[in-house]
Amino acid sequence: MVDTLRADSLLYLDGVTVSFDGFKALNSLSLVVKRGELQAIIGPNGAGKTTMMDIITGKTRPDTGEVYFEGSVDLTKKDETEIANMGIGRKFQKPTVFESHTVWDNIELSLKKPRGVFASWFYDRDDEDTARIGEILETVRLTHRASEYAANLSHGQKQWLEIGMLLAQDPKLMLVDEPVAGMTDAETIETSKLLNEISKSRSVVVVEHDMSFVRDLDCRVTCLAEGAVLAQGSLEHVSADPLVIERYLGR
Ligand code: ADP
Repeated sequence: MVDTLRADSLLYLDGVTVSFDGFKALNSLSLVVKRGELQAIIGPNGAGKTTMMDIITGKTRPDTGEVYFEGSVDLTKKDETEIANMGIGRKFQKPTVFESHTVWDNIELSLKKPRGVFASWFYDRDDEDTARIGEILETVRLTHRASEYAANLSHGQKQWLEIGMLLAQDPKLMLVDEPVAGMTDAETIETSKLLNEISKSRSVVVVEHDMSFVRDLDCRVTCLAEGAVLAQGSLEHVSADPLVIERYLGR
């Protein structure tokens, strides 16, 4: 019988271990992302946060352990492209937008198109695309910059544009790596609102060091250390945990 926790989770990791030259970057990591939740992953450098994202996206294979998506899809048997097509999108820390294209075109180039032989017959491309791009630009606060070249955006706006490009792929799970690094205070506050809004329609996992930003997220917090979960719960609960203070926050 399939584990109920696994069946009910959007993403389920159990006992995941990954070693590099004998060093365990992940040490029997077990973690669940629920459907529709926003979860922040915090923890010291070297805790295994990036390796965990690499495992989820198929960039790295675990030595042992289970990784399941939507209860039944074994991600350890899928490659990176299959995993992306299944609805797991990742945004790396450094924005990678098409600088010489407009903001609008960046979103349009990223749109997920219907697949299949007959899909194009039933798809009114222009109208649906235009409406969808408009919605996404609104969400990522870039409507007023739609015809601007991406190169001319601020660092924060480039991050939002890339979040918009991910939204254009309509992922069920968005993985976002340190989105507010290098942002102004105002952009950071706006990004927390943005991610709170986005998580109403999909699950979002954010790796982040900025605790004041995490405080503004409507999220569950998981603190990793030495490749495993150290504490989990509300930020209040996690940040009061003596081990979290000793190994991360108090440093
Ligand atoms: P975090 O993102 O939390 O800072 P990482 O997942 O990047 O942590 O790294 C966890 C540990 O695994 C670190 O000690 C790191 O040096 C090691 N590590 C990660 N990737 C590799 C690799 N490709 N080869 C060797 N060691 C690695």
